[in-house]
Amino acid sequence: MIRQAKGKTPRRPPPKKTSNNQKDPVGVYCRVRPLGADDEECCIEVISNTTIQLHAPDGLKANRNGEYKETQYSFKKVFGIKTTQKELFEDVAKPLVEDLIHCKNGLLFTYGVTGSGKTHTMTGSPGQGGLLPRSLDMIFNSIGPYQAKRYVFKPDDKNGMEVQNQVDALLDRQKRDSQSAVPKTPNTRRIDPEFADMISPEDACRADGVDEDSSYSVFVSYIEIYNNYIYDLLEETPFDPIKPKPPQSKILREDQNHNMYVAGCTEVEVKSTEEAFEVFWRGQKKRRIANTQLNRESSRSHSVFIVKLAQAPLDADGDNVLQDKNQVNVSQLCLVDLAGSERTSRTRAEGSRLREAGNINQSLMTLRTCIEVLRENQMCGTNKMVPYRDSKVTHLFKNYFDGEGKVRMVVCVNPKADDYEETLLVMRFAEMTQEVEVARPVDRPICGYTAGRRQRNQAFKDELTRRLEERGGPVDGEFPTVLNQLLQSFPPLPPCEVSGPNDDVTLPRLIEALEKRHRVRQMMIEEYNKTANMLKSVLQEQDSNILSKENFIHEQRGKLGEKDKMIQNQKNEIDRLEKKSKMLEYKIDILQKTTNIYEEDKRSLQHELESREQRLQREMSEKRRMESRMQGIVTDAKLKWEKECERRVNAKQLEMQNKLWVKDEKLKQLKAIVTEGKTENRQPQRPSREKDKVPPKRSASPSPVPTGPAVRPLHRRSHSAGGERWVDHTPSTNVDLDTVLQPNIPNAIKVNAPNEKALSKCDKYVLTHQEVASDGEIQTKLIKGEVFRTRGGGQAVQFTDIETLKQENPVVASSRKRRSSESGPDGEPMEGDWTDVETRCSVALEMRAGSNLGPGYQHHGYTKRRKP
Ligand code: ADP
Ligand code: MG
Repeated sequence: MIRQAKGKTPRRPPPKKTSNNQKDPVGVYCRVRPLGADDEECCIEVISNTTIQLHAPDGLKANRNGEYKETQYSFKKVFGIKTTQKELFEDVAKPLVEDLIHCKNGLLFTYGVTGSGKTHTMTGSPGQGGLLPRSLDMIFNSIGPYQAKRYVFKPDDKNGMEVQNQVDALLDRQKRDSQSAVPKTPNTRRIDPEFADMISPEDACRADGVDEDSSYSVFVSYIEIYNNYIYDLLEETPFDPIKPKPPQSKILREDQNHNMYVAGCTEVEVKSTEEAFEVFWRGQKKRRIANTQLNRESSRSHSVFIVKLAQAPLDADGDNVLQDKNQVNVSQLCLVDLAGSERTSRTRAEGSRLREAGNINQSLMTLRTCIEVLRENQMCGTNKMVPYRDSKVTHLFKNYFDGEGKVRMVVCVNPKADDYEETLLVMRFAEMTQEVEVARPVDRPICGYTAGRRQRNQAFKDELTRRLEERGGPVDGEFPTVLNQLLQSFPPLPPCEVSGPNDDVTLPRLIEALEKRHRVRQMMIEEYNKTANMLKSVLQEQDSNILSKENFIHEQRGKLGEKDKMIQNQKNEIDRLEKKSKMLEYKIDILQKTTNIYEEDKRSLQHELESREQRLQREMSEKRRMESRMQGIVTDAKLKWEKECERRVNAKQLEMQNKLWVKDEKLKQLKAIVTEGKTENRQPQRPSREKDKVPPKRSASPSPVPTGPAVRPLHRRSHSAGGERWVDHTPSTNVDLDTVLQPNIPNAIKVNAPNEKALSKCDKYVLTHQEVASDGEIQTKLIKGEVFRTRGGGQAVQFTDIETLKQENPVVASSRKRRSSESGPDGEPMEGDWTDVETRCSVALEMRAGSNLGPGYQHHGYTKRRKP
């Protein structure tokens, strides 16, 4: 029956599982190559075994981008120009190989500008083998004796590993032997001088803690990524010299454990360093040929050499590989020589090459972006998508970053000044990469069988061989001495010579002696068996004791190794934290100082704020006070102006009425002249012009100066001279002006309020009405009318005339008045007429009815005049 077991690729831990939350930063190393013979200026200085310093070359303008002239960059370790390949290997790659053997994945890549020593570091040259041949050598030195026979492990096409049974493996081996003419033992082969002496035997090293009870097999693949296409460098294609077929590109697939792999990629099982390196060299040659044929530049492609190690425990006998697919483990180590990191502009690429160059840079750019996003996600706790899929290189290594494994990068730098700017970019990338953390791979569980199976099986086989040899060898004729001694311990035999047929003494004695011997022998056999059994059980006990002790020691050793590693890690962590804490302390110090300054500022600002608030308060109250004062002033002014306005309106009214009256009068006179001029020569007496004039001080009202031949229609004197009776109505509210302007009507009945009785006795009525004019003067109006009888027998008054007398308020202007009465505006004495009250009254303005005097007055179309 053919039984096959499928091996698993290292399982990617489920996303949320917390069993392994330990992480390690990507290990970034820096290797400085020696300056080339033609280069003179150097821009890099190694200042410690972890730090380098970059100097801007003299020609370059320094602070152009805010860069300092000198910048320092730190790494996990810096390797100066004198570093040997061996030293580099010990530090950088050896732990990865150890991990590989202990079922853990690793990724190692070289990064840098073209010519910086990436290939030298990864591959090396004869006599100076790089990380790749040394890693292969270490693998085979470690697992060499424990390798499974060829074809016991067989890769499937889904990135898994099958375990074939003995028969199938044997058949496959026979097929291989018949197909190829390669001699079976590599020792007899001539080694290609191109890669001879890659590693000298004295450099050989091997991993500790190799599980001897497992069986191992190494598989290698070699791919090239050019222009974002993947090519299998180990693919055996029938070469057609006439029409060489262009290499077919491969695609990436995800296996059932979500690990990425190159679908259909050749995986060659190799059994020794030489064989493995030969396979590598075959790929290398193919790569060179393809590059020449297709006019490509190798510095623009990424080369990826994948070493897969399959391991499975031996069965209980320690004889064959256990046919249990769950017990097969596959780990892999990727050795990547990246394309030159320089920008496209630096290369003299043209045409299609330019496009390719752009693409290659694109993949490195994607790598940078991925690292950037990863770092951001890890540092800020964000969950941005990492664009692994944007390029083949990053997509292929996705699992290292979001799964688990150890990632290391050797940053190669050429110290020549021409590379300064590119090197600066390389340094920045390196700095960023160091901050990315990758989950630490967990230890695989070991199978349930006791340890030391292989050894015991070997010992058994050895013993068997020895015995077989013993049996076939010459037999020694003598008895072994032990047997002799044993025989001597038996009771001696009596003389057994029979004297005659009647000798019945000798025989019975002999029989007795023999029986005795027989009994002794029986006893001895029993004794022997007992002792043997005892010895056996003791031995067995000892054996198991030893076994368990050995197990224990083995276990302890493993634990010790782990503890050592842990201690180392913790030491590193402590160093890192110490550095960080120093940095933070420094920052705190600065912050403290800044805080103090700010607090000082705050205090002074608060002080200022307070004083300003106080000032504001003061200003506010000042403002309020001002406001109320202004309000007072405004009301005062308003009142004043209201009065003034009223006064002016009234004055204007008077003026207008006066003008109207004058016109009216003129018209009347004209009429009188026309109608009466011929018959009557007597002109109505008219006062002199001077008499018409109102002294300006007396009244603010404009004087009704007639412009034409103004005629004074009636004289007041004639009024009172007649036999008319007057009702003199003076309201008791009137102010006693005590002046010359008091109307004086002889023969009048004085009343405070008009009454029927007084009116019936009179035929004339005068109302003395007082009011305060807008200019503060008291204005007295004499409203005159005629009394007539109504049909109902009552009395009615029809107003006929209004006289306005103006007088300054006696309280405020009594002194001024007196002076004014004595002298005119020009200081000349006034005419005597003015002193007469009556004259003065009559000289006062006469108003026609119809002016707006209020509701109490009857309106008439014109003023009635009476002849004297
Ligand atoms: P890259 O692969 O980065 O383009 P190479 O590895 O091809 O660069 O190196 C360019 C040249 O520099 C090679 O001739 C190589 O031998 C030499 N070189 C690189 N690094 C070193 C070193 N550390 N010591 C001596 N020579 C070196
Ligand atoms: Mg190179």
